[in-house]
Amino acid sequence: MIARATMSQNIVIIGAGQAGAQAVISLRAEGFTGPITMVGDEAYAPYQRPPLSKAYLMGTFERARLFLKPDSFYRDNDCELIVNTSVTAIDRAAKMVKLSDGRTLPYGQLLIATGTRVRPIQCPGADLSGIFYLRSIADVDMLQAVFHTGKKLAVIGGGFIGLEVAAVAAKHGLEVTVFEAMERVMARAVSKQVSDFFESAHRAAGVTLLTGTGVEGFEGKDSVTGVRAGGKVYPADIVLVGIGVHANMEIAAKAGLECKNGIEVDKFCMTSDRAIFAAGDCTFHEGRDGDWMRLESVQNAIDQAKHAAAAMVGKPKPYNEVPWFWSDQYDLKLQIAGLAKPGDEVVVRGDPVSRKFSVFHLRDGVLAAVESINTPADYLVGRKLIAERAQVAAARLTDTAIPIKNVVG
Ligand code: FAD
Repeated sequence: MIARATMSQNIVIIGAGQAGAQAVISLRAEGFTGPITMVGDEAYAPYQRPPLSKAYLMGTFERARLFLKPDSFYRDNDCELIVNTSVTAIDRAAKMVKLSDGRTLPYGQLLIATGTRVRPIQCPGADLSGIFYLRSIADVDMLQAVFHTGKKLAVIGGGFIGLEVAAVAAKHGLEVTVFEAMERVMARAVSKQVSDFFESAHRAAGVTLLTGTGVEGFEGKDSVTGVRAGGKVYPADIVLVGIGVHANMEIAAKAGLECKNGIEVDKFCMTSDRAIFAAGDCTFHEGRDGDWMRLESVQNAIDQAKHAAAAMVGKPKPYNEVPWFWSDQYDLKLQIAGLAKPGDEVVVRGDPVSRKFSVFHLRDGVLAAVESINTPADYLVGRKLIAERAQVAAARLTDTAIPIKNVVG
C-alpha cells in the first residue's frame, strides 16, 4: 500500500541533484499541489554532472548550461530551494529532518536523493596538494586552475570519469598517464572488445595507459611530484583520482532504514518506511532481471525520481526500466543499454577499425545488452529490443547488409 500525499502534506527532498530536480518536475506534473522543500549541501541549484568530465572541463560548455532548470523554475513551482545546507538527521517518529544550520523541517513524505560521494584513495601521500577528484562544479573549478598544456597528469582509475578526463587532457596538450589496477579499462562496465578498442584509442592519442598497475603511493613534499606504482616512480604535476564512489546513505542508515550497498527501495522507490522514498545513485534496487544493484547514471536518477513522485501522489508504477549510459572520449560516443553478464554470447556488428561498431550481448537468444560506438541507430534499436526482451539471431546481428531496424527477421 502506498501512502497518498494529501495536499495539506509537504514533501521534503534531501539532495538538490539530478534526481531531486526531476522529482520536483514530476511531482508537479503528477498534480501534487502541496509545498515542496529541497535541501542541498552544494552552493548551487541542481545541475547535470556528465559535462563536468567532458565538454565543461574542455571549456566548450558554458557553466549556465549545466543547470537543469533556471532558479525561477523552483520559485514558480512553489519549491523552496535551500542550498549550502545538509540534512544531518531524519527523525522518523516526529517526521522531521534536522538541518546543519540548526533548523528542523517537518515532512509529510520524504524523498532521499543524496547521490554518492567520491571514494578517497588510501595510500601514502594521498593528502598531498595537487591530488584532485571530480564530482562537482567546485571540483572542476579547482582542477581547471592547474590543467595547463605541458603538465604531467596522472589519472588513477581507468573507469568512465578517469578516461574522459584523460581524453580532455590529451586534447589539451597535457602529458597523460592512466593507472588502472584491473587488467583492462572500464572492466566493470564494458566488454573486452570495447575495453580493447578504447585502450587503443587512448594510446593513439598519446596517453600512456598502464593496466594491471595498482598505485602504491604518491611522492612529494607538500605537492605531489610523482606516482609510485609497480615499484617505479612516474613523475606527475597533477593527479586525478577516479576510483569509484560511496552511496550517501548514512542519514538513512542512522534513521533505521534498510541499507545495503545503498538505500534499499522497492519497485516503487519506497524505503522500509512508507513515508520515505529514495531515488538515484544512493539507492539499492532490484533491476528488471531480478538482480539487486546500485546504478550510477542519469537514466536511473531520472526514472527513479519519476517513479518515486508517482508513488508519492498515489499513482504507483513498478520500476522496470532498461538501464542506459554513455561516455564521450575524443570523437568516440559510447552508448550502452542493458546490463551484460559473464556467460552472455557476445556478437560484434561492424568493424572497430572504422571507429563505428556495436557489441551485442545475447542471453539464451534474447538481447540483453548493447554497447555502440558512434552507431546511435544500433544503440536505439538495441535498447528497444532489450525492453521488448526480443529474440535475435546472432547471424543477423553480424550481417551489416541487414539494416539494424530489420534485424529481428
Ligand atoms: P547527484 O546528482 O549527485 O545529487 C545528489 C546531491 O545531494 C548532491 O548535490 C549532494 O551533494 C547532495 N547531498 C548529499 N547528501 C546530502 C545531505 N545530507 N543533505 C543535503 N544534500 C546532500 N551518468 C551518465 O549516465 N552518463 C554520464 O556520462 C555521466 N557522466 C558523469 C560525469 C561525472 C564527472 C560525474 C560525477 C557523474 C557522471 N554521471 C554520468 C553520473 C550522474 O551524474 C549521476 O548518476 C547523477 O548525477 C545521479 O543523480 P543523483 O540525483 O542521484 O545524485
